[in-house]
Amino acid sequence: MIKANNPSLKSWIQVPADSDFPIQNIPFGIVVRESGHKLATIIGDTVIDLAELYHGGMFDGLGLDASVFENEFINDFMALGKAQNRVVRDRISVIFQEGNQELQGNESLMASALIPASEATLSMPVKVGDYTDFYSSRDHAYNVGCMFRDPNNALLPNWLHLPVGYHGRASSIVVSGTPLKRPKGQQMPAGADKPVYGPCRLLDFELEVAFVIGKETALGDTISMDSAEEHIFGLVLFNDWSARDIQKWEYVPLGPFLGKNFGSSISPWVVTLDALEPFRTESPKQNDPEPLPYLKNTEDRNYDINLFVDINPESGEGKTVCESNFKYMYWNMCQQLTHHTVNGCNVKVGDMCASGTISGPERGSFGSMLEISWKGTKPVDMPDGSQRKFINDGDTVTMRGYGERNGVRIGFGEVSGKILPAD
Ligand code: MN
Repeated sequence: MIKANNPSLKSWIQVPADSDFPIQNIPFGIVVRESGHKLATIIGDTVIDLAELYHGGMFDGLGLDASVFENEFINDFMALGKAQNRVVRDRISVIFQEGNQELQGNESLMASALIPASEATLSMPVKVGDYTDFYSSRDHAYNVGCMFRDPNNALLPNWLHLPVGYHGRASSIVVSGTPLKRPKGQQMPAGADKPVYGPCRLLDFELEVAFVIGKETALGDTISMDSAEEHIFGLVLFNDWSARDIQKWEYVPLGPFLGKNFGSSISPWVVTLDALEPFRTESPKQNDPEPLPYLKNTEDRNYDINLFVDINPESGEGKTVCESNFKYMYWNMCQQLTHHTVNGCNVKVGDMCASGTISGPERGSFGSMLEISWKGTKPVDMPDGSQRKFINDGDTVTMRGYGERNGVRIGFGEVSGKILPAD
């Protein structure tokens, strides 16, 4: 077992019972202090400025450079490699374990390093170089296929043979809490013979989980199923906002473009693959057809992580419109990364690969409004009496996610984003 994951560990920091951040989690992110951006973690409701701990001597002897801690992003920390990342995570675990006095005995260091989460400003944790979006939930692909083609031909011929994906836009990935303007663009209204330009009318979310690359490859090299996890530092929640009407008109034949690249939102804490190890679960059987040998999966490479989507109107009560699970993925992250590099495409530290919309088998587990409202034919009743087919101006969409095992809950916190009216 990974030492820092031990379910019997307790922290001297107070951890509320429903917290996503017990001492077994120790995710990494960036907190903004008066003196700049700092590498940070969180336990319970306490954000920990790791740069302060570094300067206070708490990481002495580990051979780490200050620049890793005094940094706008966690990329340099990830680039140290998994072995060194584990040393730091283990060390943080020790410092904050019940009974440890190293930091508790130093009041001025405690005062400068510990920040109540409600007072902490978190910024974009990762400098994202390239962003790829997959399409790997079978239920999602089936639903979309049923809506736009027919149930007998719901999956396109390639779908069961490879994890379908496209290259997205890294520049518009934003951290939770960043509002987004409703995008404008070209649409072809039903029955019209000419396109129009204007605000998107079918604005949607996509419930996704993204993995972050922590180990690069050289151009021409490939990643195998067995080595893929070595390249994945950790995961974030990912809302891949989508303008369905813009997407529908523009996507032929090259795929998604302006209907997708106006914004994607991520949760501020990158939860390490190590912390998620207890939630590893069986991957779906892939025997009809079997994938080609390079994609063949022989291990448990899915993760049992409960996922939720809430819509909160500007005035009025909100509601949870989706409860799904990361385990529903047909193609797992290792298969996605293996396929991504099978042609020699290189990956870099900070690259982000999103899962694709994660839908489960029933309506309540569908991961987009397109599916929940079945193309707008089955509106959702909101507690304030209004209805939603898609997302309204002023709505805040919040995604949450966590796994629970052996009495320990490991979660992501949330990714939240409010939609502002178009200009
Ligand atoms: Mn997507």
